[in-house]
Amino acid sequence: MMTAKEIRDSFKQFFESKQHAIVPSAPMVIKDDPTLMFTNAGMNQWKDIILGTRDPEPRRRADTQKCLRVSGKHNDLEEVGHDTYHHTMFEMLGNWSFGDYFKEGAIDMAWEYLVDVLKLNPEDLYVTVFEGDPNEGLERDDEAAGYWLKHVPADHIINGNKHDNFWEMGDTGPCGPCSEIHVDSRTPEQRKESGISGRDLVNKDDPQVIEIWNLVFMQYNRKADGSLEKLSMNVIDTGMGFERLVRMLQGKHSNYDTDVFQPVIKAEQQITGLKYTTFEEEVENPISKEQDNINVAMRVCADHLRAVAFSIADGQLPSNAKAGYVIRRILRRAVRYAYTFLGQKEGFLYKLLPTLVEEMGDAFPELKAQQTLIAKVMKEEEDAFLRTLDKGISLLDKAMEEMKSKGEKELDGVQAFRLFDTYGFPLDLTELICRENGFTVNEEQFNVEMQKQKERARNAAAVENSDWVTVPGGSSAGEQQFVGYDYTEYTCHILRYRKVTQKKNEFYELVLDYTPFYGEMGGQVGDCGVLVNEAETIEIIDSKRENNQTVHIVKQLPKDPTAEFMACVDTDKRDASAANHTATHLLDYALKQVLGDHVEQKGSFVSPDTLRFDFSHFEKVSDEQLREVERMVNDMIRQDIHIDEHRDVPFDEAKKLGAIALFGEKYGDKVRVVRFGPSCEFCGGIHASSTGRIGFFKILSEASVAAGIRRIEAKTGKECEELLYRMEDMLKAVKSFFNNAKDLQGVIQKYIEEHDSMKKEIETFQQQRVQLLSKELVGKARTVNGVTVITGQFQMVPNVAKDLVFKVREQVAGSLLCVVGTEFDGKPLLNIMLSDDMVKEHGLNAGQMVREAAKLIQGGGGGQPHYAQAGGKNVDGLSAAVEKVIELAKHHLCGRSFVR
Ligand code: ATP
Ligand code: MG
Repeated sequence: MMTAKEIRDSFKQFFESKQHAIVPSAPMVIKDDPTLMFTNAGMNQWKDIILGTRDPEPRRRADTQKCLRVSGKHNDLEEVGHDTYHHTMFEMLGNWSFGDYFKEGAIDMAWEYLVDVLKLNPEDLYVTVFEGDPNEGLERDDEAAGYWLKHVPADHIINGNKHDNFWEMGDTGPCGPCSEIHVDSRTPEQRKESGISGRDLVNKDDPQVIEIWNLVFMQYNRKADGSLEKLSMNVIDTGMGFERLVRMLQGKHSNYDTDVFQPVIKAEQQITGLKYTTFEEEVENPISKEQDNINVAMRVCADHLRAVAFSIADGQLPSNAKAGYVIRRILRRAVRYAYTFLGQKEGFLYKLLPTLVEEMGDAFPELKAQQTLIAKVMKEEEDAFLRTLDKGISLLDKAMEEMKSKGEKELDGVQAFRLFDTYGFPLDLTELICRENGFTVNEEQFNVEMQKQKERARNAAAVENSDWVTVPGGSSAGEQQFVGYDYTEYTCHILRYRKVTQKKNEFYELVLDYTPFYGEMGGQVGDCGVLVNEAETIEIIDSKRENNQTVHIVKQLPKDPTAEFMACVDTDKRDASAANHTATHLLDYALKQVLGDHVEQKGSFVSPDTLRFDFSHFEKVSDEQLREVERMVNDMIRQDIHIDEHRDVPFDEAKKLGAIALFGEKYGDKVRVVRFGPSCEFCGGIHASSTGRIGFFKILSEASVAAGIRRIEAKTGKECEELLYRMEDMLKAVKSFFNNAKDLQGVIQKYIEEHDSMKKEIETFQQQRVQLLSKELVGKARTVNGVTVITGQFQMVPNVAKDLVFKVREQVAGSLLCVVGTEFDGKPLLNIMLSDDMVKEHGLNAGQMVREAAKLIQGGGGGQPHYAQAGGKNVDGLSAAVEKVIELAKHHLCGRSFVR
C-alpha cells in the first residue's frame, strides 16, 4: 500500500514525465489580493497568467497546493467533521496548461495516471460533462464527452448542470465547463444492499461516491454584467483532492482513516482517553449518538489543527478582522467541539501540534521552522476563548435562572445572539446548554439578528467594480512595465480603466503601459502623485497592486484618456517611505544580532511618516537591548552604505546570496534581492539609495501584539527631528516650572519628598481634628426616647467626613442616629450613621434615607443600611437635608413616640 507521501511524490513524477514544470505551492494566505483572502484552488496563483497579464512560460506546470475553503464562494466549514471528505485545509494536486494541450490532453493524462499508474479500477470511475445551458447560450460539452469515450463506456459518462460542471473562480473572472471524475468506493456489501448503481449516486452527496478530480477547461471570462467573453488563450486547470485520492488508494472509506489523519487522531485518543471509531468498526458495531459526537469532534480537531497551524506558518495570526478573524473562528470551532464532546476544559489543539509537525514537517518545512511560535499562538488563543466560554456560561446560567423565576421556557433570540456576537458563544452550544436545563432557544429570532448583522457588514464593505474599459490603442490585457526602481517620472499611456464604487464613493482605477508608481505591497504604502500633460493634471491619490500590476487610483478620468501623459510620483513622500523601508531592513538585521536568529519578520508597515515592524520573539525586549539595536542601526546609517540591488535573480541563486525569505510570502521564479552591507533580503520594495538618507533612527515603542509576536514602532529622519523638538519644548516647559533649575532631577526629587512629608502631616492633623470634633458632637448629643441623636455641620474633605461619623459611632453605646452635613469646594455632602440595632431591630435604612434627603441638595448617593453618603450641588439645602433625615427617621419610628 502506498503511503500518503509516496502518493504525493508519484503525482509529481508522473507530470514531470509529461514535461510539466513542478512548482511550489503558493502560500495559503493571500496577501495582496483584495478579492480573495485564502487560496481556495490551485489556479489562484495563476490568475494573472490566465487573465493575460503575466508571461505564461513554462506552459505546463504541476504542483500540490495548500487550499483553505472557509469563506467566500467555496465555504465547506460547516460540513467539516460531520462528513468524512470535506476539509477546511486540504492539498489540491493540479496540472496546468496555458495555451498548450487542451481537453484531450488533460483527459488522457488524468486517465493514464489514475488507471495505468495508480491502478484504480475503471469500473468504479464515473465522469461528468457539462450538459449546456440555454440561458448562457452554451451547448453540451460534446468535445469532452468524445474524448472520454476513448476510455470509459457511455454509461459511465453523466451530464451535469451548471452548478456542478461549470467552474467559476468568483463572481467575475476566468471560468469554463469542467469534467469531474468520481469514484464509487462503496463496499461490496453496501452495493448489494442498496441495489443502486454508482452512476445514480454521482453528485448526490453520497459519502462513498465522491468527486476526486475536477478537470476545468477554461475558455471564458465572466464580466461584471454577467456575460461571458472568450479568453484569449485556452487553459487547462485541474484539481484533485489529495486526501480523497489517498483514501481511495489505501482502500479506506473515510479520509480520516488514512495515514494523513490517523496519527493525529491517535494523539487525540491518548490525550482524551476516549476512543475514535473507524469506518470499519462502525460497520461492524453500530455506534451510539455519544460515540458519534466524539468522532465528529475528533475529526473537527484533527482537521482544524491543520488549517490553523498552516495559516500561522504562512504569517496569518488569529485576530479580530478579515483573514485573521476567519482563522480565529476555525480555532474556536475546534475548541468548542473539544470542550463539549471531548471534555477538554483547557487548551487541546496545541498539544496535537508535535504530531502534525512530525507528519507534515518534511513536506512543509515552514511548519517545522515555526513550531514554537505556532504552539504559543494556539495555546494563548485557546486559553482566551475558554475564558470567554466560561463567562458566556455564567451569563447563560443567570439568564436561565431568570427564566425559571418568570416561568419562561424559551431563551429569546436577541440574548442568544448577544452571547454569540459579544462572547463568541455559538448558537448550538447555547442550545445544548439550554436543552440540558430544560429550555429552548428562539432560533428564528436569532437568525433575524444574524441576518441584520450580515447586512450591516455587507453594506459597509460593498465594493462594486465595473468591467475594465480598454482605451482605443491601449490593450485589454498586455503587461505593464514597472519602471519605478529607476525613475520617478515617466512618459505613459493609459491601457485601460474601470469605475469602482465603494460606500457610495466613486473613483477610477487606471492601468498605464509604463509606470514609476509603486503599488501598495509588502507593507509599503503606494505612491501618490499626478498624471500630467499640457491639457490637464489628474491627481493620483493612491496606487495599489493587483494581478502583478500597479493600479492607479484617481477621482476623475482625463478628458482624453488616449493622450500621452507624464506620470510623476510625489518624491517627498516616496523618499520618506523609502528611507523607512530601508530602516526596517536594518532593524530586522540588528534585531537578529541582538536577540538571536529566532527573530522572524511577521509583518511590517512602512509609510512616509512612520514604520512598524512585527517579529517573533517570546519576551519583552529590554531597554538595554532596544538601545543596542538603535545604536547598531544608526551606525549603519552613518556608514552610508550604498544599496546593492539584484533584479531578476533566480530564486535559488538568491538564497545562495544569503537573502532572507519570509514564510508565507509568494515569490516568483525570479526575485529581487536588496542588500545594505550585512543586511540582505528578498524585497520588491522601494528603498533609499544609501543608508545615510535615513538620517536617524529612533524606536518609539516596543510591545506585544499577539502571543510570541512583538511590535516595534519607530521614526526616521525628519520625523526624528520633530520628535527631538517636541521633547526639547517639553523639557523647557518643565524647567520653567522650577525656575530653570540647573539640577532639574534633583529639584523634582526634592519637591516630591516635600510633598510626601506634607501629606503625612496633613493626615495627622486631620485625625486630630476628627478626634476633637467627634468628642464635641458626642458631647452635644441629645437622647430622644433612648436614641442618641447627633447632628452637625462642618467644612471638611469628604473622606474625613466619613472618618468622623465612624469615630462618633465608636464612642456611642446603644441606639444612635448621627447625621452630619459637610461642605467642601462649594459642594455639600450628607453623611448618615446608624447603630446596628436601629437597622436590625427598627428597620431603618441609611441608604434609603440618604437618597430621599439628597433631593434637597440636588444630588444622589447611597450606601449600606447602617452608613450612607450623598453628594449634591446645592449647599444651601444642606441643613434642610439634615433635618429631613431626622424627620424620616421619626416618621419611620412613628409607632413609638420618637420626638426631637
Ligand atoms: P465537492 O462537490 O465534493 O465539494 P467541489 O466541486 O467543491 O467538490 P472542486 O472545486 O472542483 O471541488 O475542487 C477540486 C477537487 O478538490 C475536488 O474534486 C476534490 O477532490 C477536492 N476538494 C474540494 N473541496 C474539498 C474539501 N473541502 N476538502 C477536501 N478536498 C476537497
Ligand atoms: Mg465543494
